[in-house]
Amino acid sequence: MSESVVLITQDGVRLDGRRIDELRPVKMQVGVLKNCSGSAYIEQGKTKILVAVQGPREAHPKHIALPGRAILRTRYHMAPFSTDERKSPAPSRREVELSKVIREALEPALFLEEYPKTVIDVFIEVLQADAGTRSAGITAASIALAEAGIPMRDLVTAVAVGKVGGKVVLDLNEAEDEHGEADMPIAMMPSLNKITLLQLNGRLTRQELEEGVNLVKKGIKELYSLQKQALRARFSGAQVEV
Ligand code: UDP
Repeated sequence: MSESVVLITQDGVRLDGRRIDELRPVKMQVGVLKNCSGSAYIEQGKTKILVAVQGPREAHPKHIALPGRAILRTRYHMAPFSTDERKSPAPSRREVELSKVIREALEPALFLEEYPKTVIDVFIEVLQADAGTRSAGITAASIALAEAGIPMRDLVTAVAVGKVGGKVVLDLNEAEDEHGEADMPIAMMPSLNKITLLQLNGRLTRQELEEGVNLVKKGIKELYSLQKQALRARFSGAQVEV
């Protein structure tokens, strides 16, 4: 991370014209794939992600099955064409780690005990990456799981805050992520006011951290409302195909 790039003006206007507390333009759609129990597509700025959910289905091989609950499996994958430099299709260490943290962010919301001996698979395919892919992946995965009919305590909604040019800002894009001073993705169950993921790359003071959490809550409130809107559109039959 370097500070040589001017990412924000004195008046708090960012390179893409946003203020410090603004999300990138967001689009969400539920029910975009036919061969899955649930699916969702999200665009957040230039980040574009498709999520597919399969299951609950009987666990194979049988010895992996858990007697008292379903196993949640998550696969975060970046398409080779999703980044500026071609990404190898083989899973990187980063993708393995993100698959795990995404699973841990989603799991607390799910009543997995309702489906013993089964597996629920969540495939998160990053089609275009411009930062915030783990957060947008979680936001989309949660509405895909809802479409699949998995009972949930709440949706899970995620967004990152960070520090650029000394200011705490909401929803970093790639330039801000790369050249900024800190990046802090957070996932929450918004109605329950519970955080299920918090990571911090870089340094923040205690005050910046508090400021960051407040900004995240503002962003999450907006995203949560879009998630519910996308689910309502799916189930009201008012869905518009893309
Ligand atoms: N990125 C990339 N190639 C990679 C990994 C990351 O181009 O192999 C870019 C991509 O735009 C990604 C961003 O760097 O969204 C930030 O990555 P990070 O690991 O912080 O995760 P994210 O913010 O996407 O959750």
